[in-house]
Amino acid sequence: MEKSSTIRYFLMWMIVTFIFGASIFLTGFFPINNYALDRAVAENQPKDLDGLSLTPPTQIYAQTILMLVDALRFDFASQSGMEFSYNNSCNRLKLRVNIPTVTMPRLKSLTTGTISNFIDIVLNIGHVEQLADSLMHRLQVRNEITVFAGDRTWISLFPKQFTRFTANSDSFYVNDFYEGDKNVTEVLTKELLNDDWMLLVLHYLGLDHIGHVEGSDSSKIPLKLKEMDDVVLKLYKAKHFHRQLLILTGDHGMRDGGGHGGSTAGELYVPLFVLKENCTTKGSSKANEYNQIDVAPTLAILWSMEIPPMSIGCLIPELLHEFNLEDQLFAYYYNALHLMQKANNKFGQDYVDNNAFSKWFITAKSAHKQFLLEKRNNNFENAFIFEDSKIHYIRLAREISNQLSDSLVQFDYGLITLGLALTTIVVLNALLAFCSATDRVFIHGKVAFLSLLAFAACINKWCHYHGYFTTTGTMSTVVILLAIMASVYMLINIANLLLRRMLASNNLQISLPNQIWMLLSCLLIHTLTLASSSFIENENKTWHYLGASALILLCVQSFQKELLSYKLDACINGVALYKVLLRNLQKLQTSFVIIGGLSILYRLDGASSYLTQEATKTWLSCIFVAGLLLYVLCLRTHKLVQTRKELGIYVIAAMLIYCYRASKGVVSSVFDTNCCAKIVLHIFWMVVIIAACISTVILYTKRRLSYQIQHTLLAGCFKILLTLLLTICLLLHKPHNVCLVAYLMYTLSLCYELCGKFEKNTLRTSNYKYLSKLLCTILVGNMFYFYQGNSNSFATIDLNPGYIGQTSYNPIIVGILVTLNMYSAQFIAFLYLITHILQESDNNKTHDLSANEHIDFIIYFYTLSIFVPVLIYLWLLLFFRYHLFIYSVFAPKALYEFYRVIVLFFTYLMTTISLYIFDQK
Ligand SMILES: [Zn+2]
Ligand SMILES: [Zn+2]
Repeated sequence: MEKSSTIRYFLMWMIVTFIFGASIFLTGFFPINNYALDRAVAENQPKDLDGLSLTPPTQIYAQTILMLVDALRFDFASQSGMEFSYNNSCNRLKLRVNIPTVTMPRLKSLTTGTISNFIDIVLNIGHVEQLADSLMHRLQVRNEITVFAGDRTWISLFPKQFTRFTANSDSFYVNDFYEGDKNVTEVLTKELLNDDWMLLVLHYLGLDHIGHVEGSDSSKIPLKLKEMDDVVLKLYKAKHFHRQLLILTGDHGMRDGGGHGGSTAGELYVPLFVLKENCTTKGSSKANEYNQIDVAPTLAILWSMEIPPMSIGCLIPELLHEFNLEDQLFAYYYNALHLMQKANNKFGQDYVDNNAFSKWFITAKSAHKQFLLEKRNNNFENAFIFEDSKIHYIRLAREISNQLSDSLVQFDYGLITLGLALTTIVVLNALLAFCSATDRVFIHGKVAFLSLLAFAACINKWCHYHGYFTTTGTMSTVVILLAIMASVYMLINIANLLLRRMLASNNLQISLPNQIWMLLSCLLIHTLTLASSSFIENENKTWHYLGASALILLCVQSFQKELLSYKLDACINGVALYKVLLRNLQKLQTSFVIIGGLSILYRLDGASSYLTQEATKTWLSCIFVAGLLLYVLCLRTHKLVQTRKELGIYVIAAMLIYCYRASKGVVSSVFDTNCCAKIVLHIFWMVVIIAACISTVILYTKRRLSYQIQHTLLAGCFKILLTLLLTICLLLHKPHNVCLVAYLMYTLSLCYELCGKFEKNTLRTSNYKYLSKLLCTILVGNMFYFYQGNSNSFATIDLNPGYIGQTSYNPIIVGILVTLNMYSAQFIAFLYLITHILQESDNNKTHDLSANEHIDFIIYFYTLSIFVPVLIYLWLLLFFRYHLFIYSVFAPKALYEFYRVIVLFFTYLMTTISLYIFDQK
C-alpha cells in the first residue's frame, strides 16, 4: 500500500492548486479594474447650445445637509415611524439601490453616480480603496468647507477631502447602538452654531447595528427611528434652516429579519426625503421611484458643479423645481450631453447614431432652442415647449443610463478560461488518481522543471500576442505563468495515468451496496439543482428533503434487512418474530422521533426574530437550557468524557455560557448579572482550558495503566478536540440554535448505526468500508449548516459570534470566530467521523487496513465531494453570465463556494497536523 504521507502531500497540492485556479476564475469574472477603464476627465459645463449662449444656474442653497441613516429601509420612514420627517418633507421619493447592498459600494454610488463592482463587497470588509473623483473631490477643488460625522467608511473613501471630520472609532463593532450616534448628534449641535460649511454629512449607524444584532422586528427600532426623527426636527428648527437643504436617506435597506447584503425588496429600497423651508409641494402622497445613482448628478447641478465624470445617473426633477425653467432645461441638457458622451465612449459613434436616443436628443435640443429663442425675443416662457424638451431629455437620459449600467459588467475571458482550465484539470487529475492507487507524482528534477517553465513562458507569450490575455505587470505575469505551468504539469500527469490505465487494463469493479448508490445520488441531485436560481436561493430546502429522505430510506431498509435475516428462525417460533418486530419498531420509532425533531428545528430558525423579542424571553430561556442539558447528556451517551470529574467541569462550562447570555440580557436570570459579562467569559475560557488539560492527563495516565494499542491515544485526543469544539460552538451559537449541537451528534450516531448494518463482508476489508458513513456525514453536515440559519445570501452571515468578548474590531479574530460558527456543523460532523473510525479500529483490529488508510480515503473522498460541485458550478457560472440574477443569486453563491474550498483547506490542514502530532508512538 501507498504511504500516507504521499497521499497527504498530493491532496494538499491539489487543494492549493484548485484554490489558485478558482481565484483566477473569480478575478476574471468579477474584474476589479472596471473603474480604471471607465475613468475620464470631467467635461466643463456647456457654454452654448448650437450657437445660443447658455449660462449655468447659480447655487440656490448656501448649505446642504446630507443625513444618512444606515439601513433605513423604505417602510421605516413611514408616518408612524418618523412622523415629523414624513409630514414636513417637501418630497418623499423612493430610491432603488444597486447590489451589493452593503455600505461602501452604496457610498460610492451616492458620491460618484456610478454602479459598483460586485467585488466591492469583498473590499468592503477590508475597506481600503480610495476614490479618484467624486462630488467630494469637486468640492475640495472649489475650496468649500465640508464637515463629516459618522461611519468610518467615509474616511476610508475620502481621507483628505473633508475639512473637518469625526469618525466612529469602530464601524464594524455591531454591539454599539447608541454611543456612536450620540457623538454624531454632538458634532451636529456644534456645527449648527458654525455657518462656514457648505456641506454637512451625517452618517448614523445605530439602526443598522440594531438590525444586525436584534433583527428587523426589534423593539429598539421604533425608538431609534424616533431618535432620528428628533435629529431632523432639531435641524429643521435651527437658526439657518432658511438657507439650507436637508436630504434624508439610507445607504441601503434591511432584510426582514435583520442583515443586509442581498437583494430582497427590503434591502433594495430606501426613502429620499427632501426638507427645506417654504416648499410648495409639502405632503404629496405619490412617491416617485428613482435610482440611487441619480443623486450624484442632481447634487452636482444643485451645487453648480461639474457632473462627476463616472456618473451614469439621471436627474431627479423634484429636486430641481427651485430653478427657473431656463435653468432646469440647462440642467437636463448638461446631463444628457454628459451621458451621450459616455455612450459614445462606451458603444462607439455608429451605435449611438443609429439608436433611438440620438433622435430624442435632437428633438429635445430643438425644443430647448425654441424655448430659449421665445424667451429671449418675446420674454415669454412657453411651458408647453418646456415640457416637450424636458420629457425628451429625461427619456433619453434614462435609456442611456440603463444601457450603461448593463454594460458595466465586463468579463476577462482570458482569466476565466485559464482559471476554468486549471480547476478542471485539477479535478480530473484528482479523480483519476483516486481510481488508480498507484504513484501520483511523476516529474522530478531541475531539467524537467526548467523545460516546463520555458514551455509555459512560450504559451504565455503566444496568448499575449494573440490578445487572449490583456494583463500587464510583473505580478500578473508571474501568476499566469504559474497557472499555465501547473496546468501543463497536471495534463502530463493525467496522460500518464490514462496510459498506465490502458496498459494495466485491470477493470475497476466495485460492487457497492444499494444504499451507497442511494446516498451518492442524493449528492448528485444536489449538484444538479445548482443550475437553477430558485434552488440556490432555497438550498436549505434541498438539503432538508435530501437529508430527511435519506434517513427514512436507511431506516426502512435496515428494518427490512433485519426482518429478512430473522425470517427463517421466526417461521418456527412466533414469539421470536414478535420480539424482533417489537425491537425494530422501537428503533424505527426513535428514527422518526429524530426526523420529526429535525422538522421542528427546520421551523425554529424561521421563528428566530419572534423568539428574540422581550415577550418570549422565557421560551427562549427554556430552549436554551434544553440545548445545554442535551449537550451534557450527549457527552455522557457518546462517552466523550471518561470520568465524573471531567463531566462536572463541562457542566460548569455550560452554566457559564448560560450566565454569559443572561448577563447580555438575552435569556432570563434570577440575579442581576448585567455587570459581569466579561468576567464570566474569562472564567469560561479558563474552565475550557482546565478541562482540556485534565482530560489529557487522564488519557495519558489511563494509557500507562493498561497496555494499549496506539490508536486509543489518538482516538482519545480526537475526542478531546471534539468535546472542546462542541463546547465552543455552544458559546458561539445563537441561543435558540444551541440544541443543534447535541442534535447533530444524535443524528450522526443514528446514521452510523444504520449504516453499520449494511457493511457487507466484502466491504469490511476494503477502502469503501466507511463510504456510506462518510456520505451520511456530508448530508447531515450540510443539512445542519442550513438549519443554523445560513443561506446563499450575504445577508444571513451572522456577525455576532465574532464580537463575543471583543471590545474592538479585529478582523482576524472576528473572521475566525464567524467562520467557526458558520461551518460548525460540518467541522463537528467531520471530526466525529474521524473519531468514530479511530475508535472502531481499536475495537476490532482483525482486518488488514489500518485506521490511517481509512482516514486518508475519507479525506480524499471528502475533498472530491467538494471539488466536483464547485467545478460544475464554475462552469454553470460561465454559461449563466448574462442571466438576470447573476449578480444577486449566482455571484454570492460563487463566493460562498470559493470560501467553502478555503475552509476545506483549513479543515484538511488541521486534521493532518493533529494526526501528525498525536500519532507519535
Ligand atoms: Zn450600511
Ligand atoms: Zn450593516
